Amino acid sequence: MNAQVKGAASFEIPEGRTVTVAKTAGFCFGVERAVNQVYEQIKAVKEGKAEGPIYTYGPIIHNEEVVRDLEEKGVTVLDTEEDLKALPEGKGTVIIRSHGVSRHIYDILKERGIRIADATCPFVKKIHRIVDEHAAAGDAVVIIGSPFHPEVEGIRGWGNTYTTVIENEAEAQNYVVPEGKKLCVVSQTTFNYNKFQDLVEKFLKKGYDISVLNTICNATQERQSEARRIASEVDAMIVIGGKSSSNTQKLYEICRRECENTYYIQTVDDLEPESVSSVRSVGITAGASTPKNIIKEVHTNVRIKF
Ligand code: SF4
Repeated sequence: MNAQVKGAASFEIPEGRTVTVAKTAGFCFGVERAVNQVYEQIKAVKEGKAEGPIYTYGPIIHNEEVVRDLEEKGVTVLDTEEDLKALPEGKGTVIIRSHGVSRHIYDILKERGIRIADATCPFVKKIHRIVDEHAAAGDAVVIIGSPFHPEVEGIRGWGNTYTTVIENEAEAQNYVVPEGKKLCVVSQTTFNYNKFQDLVEKFLKKGYDISVLNTICNATQERQSEARRIASEVDAMIVIGGKSSSNTQKLYEICRRECENTYYIQTVDDLEPESVSSVRSVGITAGASTPKNIIKEVHTNVRIKF
């Protein structure tokens, strides 16, 4: 097959080239659900079924193109509690993103009579409920995760004064359960499973009255395992995602270990046709914030143009 590529020479696409797109490429269930919810709210406001203007508390995903598209459709990103407090009373809709937020944020919005569209991922919501129940029972709660991650800040906001975040071995080693308290341990959804197990082991060794709830979500791990498998089977591998996306960077490193010809691109424009023009098999995966249309465009180009 012969193909002409923008400003480039024409290439012979090897007959019978296989292009494999990872099933787990791109948005996870929770992010897809949140992004869809924003578009549904835009439609609802247009049809007069919901109160505008629409705001998201924090960018709905870390993808500039999606955020820009939403801005063009009238969606404003609010970044701080002060922004929420400055909203006119009783007007508009605030969408909570998949990371979730603390109880305190719901309280601010309810007090101001602002409609909430809650796109918190159900897996995160479940952690809020666990922490809320244990905190109400007076238990100590340890959240294993990174303290400044928005998801962890939100989870912590459902706890009590005995709720704390632990990220590493030294912190786990130094942690002492307050006298007479039971201990509940949960995890940030994207925390590394082996690291979680190691930290839990430290608590178990201390002989505390402890209930451990593994609240890690498998979406990230499944995306990485599939990317690793595909990269080990193809001649060239393409990883799509924002340059500042840490999960895409990680995917790239995993794929690069398996396949020397691994390319990290943000959109199809970054892909040099020469890099895949002569190979017989190509794999494609994408980070958690990469929209379907970008993956589809790369797939189409690799399949019929490059
Ligand atoms: Fe996605 Fe899992 Fe996080 Fe939900 S918990 S947003 S599915 S990574």
